[in-house]
Amino acid sequence: MYEGIIQELIDELGRLPGIGPKSAQRIAFHIVQSERVDVNRLVEVLRLVKERVKFCTQCFNVAEEDECKICRDPRRDPSVLCVVEESKDVVAIEKTREFRGKYHVLGGAISPIDGIGPEQLKIRELLTRLADERIMRSSSPPTPTLRVKRRQPIWLAP
Ligand SMILES: [Zn+2]
Repeated sequence: MYEGIIQELIDELGRLPGIGPKSAQRIAFHIVQSERVDVNRLVEVLRLVKERVKFCTQCFNVAEEDECKICRDPRRDPSVLCVVEESKDVVAIEKTREFRGKYHVLGGAISPIDGIGPEQLKIRELLTRLADERIMRSSSPPTPTLRVKRRQPIWLAP
């Protein structure tokens, strides 16, 4: 245990995902030894992220406007929807430059042990979207990330 504010910093850093006690201590001492201007830049970015970043009203990807860049792009194919768990999955798929459709970000995966069920995820919004946009077929994903194929509307007999 360190004295005072340095321990508070270590504790706060340790609450971040993937940061264990040793990493938290290493980052805290890095910050202590950093130039003030570098630390101020980090503080400013943290403040701006909380101020500016929200979730796209269409696909729930991170965005700085009501809709994310992908949803606003008229060149994206609206007939194909890729359903992913997190925004980081969108980034990974975008890096491949293979996918030209749109996304739906669920905001996690169903995990009863963590108390995460369908209600905690954007599944209702996905169903609404699929109904509105008349997706006629879905296919199972090769990984936990789900892909849904969307086609032109097909009118079914009642
Ligand atoms: Zn979007």
